Amino acid sequence: MKEVFTIADLRDWPKVTADCAIPLRLAVIGDPVAHSKSPAMHNAALAALGISARYTRLHIKPDELSECLSLLPKAGFIGINCTIPHKTAVLTHVTRADVFAQRAGGVNTVTVESDGTLTGTSTDGPGFARAIRETFGADLSTFRVMILGAGGGAGRAVAMQCASAGCPSLMLINRSLEKLIPLLDDLAAFYPAKNIASGDFDPIFLRAGLGMSDLIVNCTALGMKSEDRSPIPAELLGKHHRLYDTIYVAHRTPFLRAGDAAGAPGENGLSMLLHQGALSFERWFHCEPPIEAMRAAL
Ligand code: NAP
Repeated sequence: MKEVFTIADLRDWPKVTADCAIPLRLAVIGDPVAHSKSPAMHNAALAALGISARYTRLHIKPDELSECLSLLPKAGFIGINCTIPHKTAVLTHVTRADVFAQRAGGVNTVTVESDGTLTGTSTDGPGFARAIRETFGADLSTFRVMILGAGGGAGRAVAMQCASAGCPSLMLINRSLEKLIPLLDDLAAFYPAKNIASGDFDPIFLRAGLGMSDLIVNCTALGMKSEDRSPIPAELLGKHHRLYDTIYVAHRTPFLRAGDAAGAPGENGLSMLLHQGALSFERWFHCEPPIEAMRAAL
């Protein structure tokens, strides 16, 4: 069976997937998408629960998104996950997007409803909150949080989740300051302005942020490659900081290595991937996901 399907395959789905013993009725769409670990996690859950459906990858380019979404009901899909670069665009294509998608400014989970309409949610923020509790044994609401790369998609979802949880304070850092403006505007609607600060990667802002934060979250793309530098120098970090890198790669990321050098404990984003996936599964099947089977598969 193919590891990655395309829009051409989706147009002729029953024929193209005729040799699959169990129908492919779920997928992650992205560009690129070949690296995604979601199929392993979801297929383990589907097998564990004896559900007659399997999960695959669809390589969909931005100009193919609209057609892809329109083909899903007829192809018999239960739902899809969306990754880079589709999350924001999907928000404008679904019939209904819930509060999590609105706040995150994007959709990572689409459900094909029984009437064929598409609904969207984002499980990134709630998945992050569960990952923090699991990793550090404390509720997200207890942490003063600094987010590196808050102007990106993951950064926004994390920032909104922290604000909804009622974190005592938030420091938002982004390389391009202007990309923080829409987030700051949206946060102003429900989070007290006095508890929020922002800046770029100038050491003045980094020091100020580290002084007012316990949990430092990397939402930048820095660390995807092992030769990347850490988004924050080790010498600015202290033992009392907790580090969470949303990136999940096989190597210890430069951000986490900076934490190791400073004696600050930290984990990568695999647990966020797990929990956002488990919440998608719950949305599609309205049942408790077999979380340990999903974790083992990852
Ligand atoms: P995105 O929307 O493209 O945002 C990328 C962010 O990285 C922006 O804030 C960008 O800053 C910043 N950045 C990129 N290169 C940088 C550099 N050299 N120096 C400083 N900042 C830099 O991407 P995204 O969807 O938010 O994804 C970001 C990361 O989160 C990815 O690594 C992804 O794997 C991870 N993620 C993980 C999960 C999970 O489940 N664990 C879920 C979602 C995302 P500018 O605004 O200045 O360009």
